[in-house]
Amino acid sequence: MADVEIVGASFAGLSCARASASRGLRTIVWDRKRDAGEAVRTTGLLVKEADEDEEFPRELVRRIHGVRLYGPSLRWVDLDAPGYFFLATDTPALLRSMAARAEAAGAEIRHGRSFWATMRTGRILVGADGPRSRVARSAGLGVNRRFLAGIEAEFEGPVELETRLHVFLDSDLAPGYIGWVVPGVGVTQVGLATRLPARPDLDRFIERVRSVVDLAPARRVATRGGLIPVGGTVRPFATPDTVLVGDAAGLVSPLTAGGIHTAMRSGRLAALAIASHLLDGGPSPDRVLHDAYPAFTWKRPMRAAMDIHPPNALLDRALESPRFRAVARAVFFHHRGLLSGDAWRDVAPAMLRPAGAP
Ligand SMILES: Cc1cc2nc3c(=O)[nH]c(=O)nc-3n(C[C@H](O)[C@H](O)[C@H](O)COP(=O)(O)OP(=O)(O)OC[C@H]3O[C@@H](n4cnc5c(N)ncnc54)[C@H](O)[C@@H]3O)c2cc1C
Repeated sequence: MADVEIVGASFAGLSCARASASRGLRTIVWDRKRDAGEAVRTTGLLVKEADEDEEFPRELVRRIHGVRLYGPSLRWVDLDAPGYFFLATDTPALLRSMAARAEAAGAEIRHGRSFWATMRTGRILVGADGPRSRVARSAGLGVNRRFLAGIEAEFEGPVELETRLHVFLDSDLAPGYIGWVVPGVGVTQVGLATRLPARPDLDRFIERVRSVVDLAPARRVATRGGLIPVGGTVRPFATPDTVLVGDAAGLVSPLTAGGIHTAMRSGRLAALAIASHLLDGGPSPDRVLHDAYPAFTWKRPMRAAMDIHPPNALLDRALESPRFRAVARAVFFHHRGLLSGDAWRDVAPAMLRPAGAP
């Protein structure tokens, strides 16, 4: 019998498997895909904090400094934070390397098998099976109910583009979220997401941004998409013998919709809690994780504000305001929390400046 049985061999499941196997627990991972890099559904952009937690193979990532933020009229401003960066990734290869590291630590990964409740064999079951978690439903745990729908295309070939994260605000094309263009690892990634029930129209978006990102010389080689939970942490997310991690637990920032870093962190945290419980008689993992998972206290109200879909004319005007730009900088560059000291040092000067001052 396995000590830890994990459903889902992606960011959360593979981080959990590696940490669990490294501690000597017999660890089995199931995934319905045939290999970890198959049918990836994410842009795969990592925040700097993820790079601080884990060493990624350098050939699989590309550093991106700064954001170019476009209003609906396609006027733009550049936002910068010295020392901060994002990592674009060759995501399929990155996931394969995470799978190899988990196996090297002793985890057994079994691909090509879907999880059913009756299959359960491990002492502790970890649901790392994404936004529509079957593990959550079979264990009677909380499930995600609020989603963005995201879609992205990948282009190969020459695209003239400054090496920044290009972010597009547009309440018609991306109600409740944004469009993006990422200079990726050997490709250019173009996508957008909308708050359901609105559906993203990628071709219209590509046509709309043509004057600033001309994709005509490039070739579209892939299209992917999926749901992004934005309702915050599900409750309950664990029982004494079943734990949800990553998207299955709703651990995606309701504001930025970034979930990879929290998926990896929660996978690791869950493994440490399980190891302490099984090996050293520590408290059951649900009790430990209760204090460790984020509550998204400030990000949830900000998500509600984004769901209002401000008119495009207002978004264009907002882009000119130093206060709006300061808040945008805090959102993009201060992932440790909008109320962190760093975030306030960045935002406060713009907030305290008299209205109308440049
Ligand atoms: C279009 C799009 C773009 C995104 N871009 C970013 C980004 O740039 N940066 C960022 O931080 N976040 C991004 N996200 C969110 C990010 O992708 C997720 O938060 C992250 O992938 C969560 O990882 P996970 O391991 O929890 O789940 P997932 O990556 O969803 O993996 C779940 C795994 O479980 C497996 N599985 C599911 N059900 C079963 C079953 N019944 N049996 C067996 N296996 C099963 C799946 O095959 C899959 O391998 C994006 C999401 C989307 C949809």
